Amino acid sequence: MNRRSTSSNTIFYIFLAATIMLVSLLGATAYSLGAQLFGSWNASKTSEALAESPHRDLPIPTETPTIFIDHAPAETATEFPEPTSTLTPATPCQRPEHVLVIVLDGMRPDAIWRTSKAPYILDLARHQGAYTWYAQTVNPSKTLPAHTSLLTGYDVPIHGVTGNDVSKDEGAYLKTKSLFHFAKEHNWFTALVAGKKKLSFLGQPGVVDVQQVYKEADNFTVAEYTIQVIGMKGFGFMLINFSFTDAMGHAEGWMSDPYLEAVAQADQAVRYVLSVLNDHLETTLIVITADHGGLGYTHSLNRPEDETIPWIITGPCVKEGFELPSEPRVRIFDTAPTILWALGWEIPPDSSGRVIREAFEEIGFSEVGTP
Ligand SMILES: [Zn+2]
Repeated sequence: MNRRSTSSNTIFYIFLAATIMLVSLLGATAYSLGAQLFGSWNASKTSEALAESPHRDLPIPTETPTIFIDHAPAETATEFPEPTSTLTPATPCQRPEHVLVIVLDGMRPDAIWRTSKAPYILDLARHQGAYTWYAQTVNPSKTLPAHTSLLTGYDVPIHGVTGNDVSKDEGAYLKTKSLFHFAKEHNWFTALVAGKKKLSFLGQPGVVDVQQVYKEADNFTVAEYTIQVIGMKGFGFMLINFSFTDAMGHAEGWMSDPYLEAVAQADQAVRYVLSVLNDHLETTLIVITADHGGLGYTHSLNRPEDETIPWIITGPCVKEGFELPSEPRVRIFDTAPTILWALGWEIPPDSSGRVIREAFEEIGFSEVGTP
């Protein structure tokens, strides 16, 4: 081997070694670079996909998901069990916890159902209540005799309030036991809010906890006060009288445009009051009626327009959207016995009225009543 040859061999081995090192280095670098590139692309794609996903706001579960095994297959095939009962037994209704009576003074029923002025009341009657447009008030068809009959369950000859010419100023109060008395006997909070001075006659001392009787008030004033009472005190039994329809009937004529505007105002006032009952709505028995109708500029002339009134009831166990039969007619003095029956309270045996049982579901009320 000559020197040149030795030299050539040395150069060859150095080159070989260098080549091996270079290839190894490049391979490692390429692998490392590739992994980095692949990884970063993946991450980038993932964050893009997350950003576009409509579910990106779903919370990340922090707890181990529970696995439901309620349909775990049975170890062995079994026969279907015999049903123990084909129908769930119906439960009697819970008795009302509140009673609200709303009197729309001088409201003719056809002002509700034949016009478009009372959409709320009409809808309430037709979808949530039992109702009739052919109920009858007393004779004379006047405010105080009618309110007295409504509250006591007696016809005029029995309670003896034959006209409006009695007032608190003369120290005259209703002597007959009314729904206010019955409510107080059961320690219920009672309230009377009215837009007509003469109705203070109904507020016998000791049986009405809150009484607000305006000399003359529009329906919103009465509604505002009522809402304050409901908000601050709540109520067991409450009577509200919205008088503006009667005022407009006397001033402008029944079914005149101003009268119908008062009807629309009454409709809004009722909606306003019922809207604040909130959770109590389901446990409140509500009666919406009128003391009388009217024709021309007056009422109490024994005409059908004077004596025919709306009568709507909603609440626990009341049929929904049920038009009561026109015979036998609902009379205004049926209101008190019907309310007493729903509450499970004693009805005076000499009551002139009857319980409007047909307004309620057959199942009736639970025997566990309000004590
Ligand atoms: Zn009147």
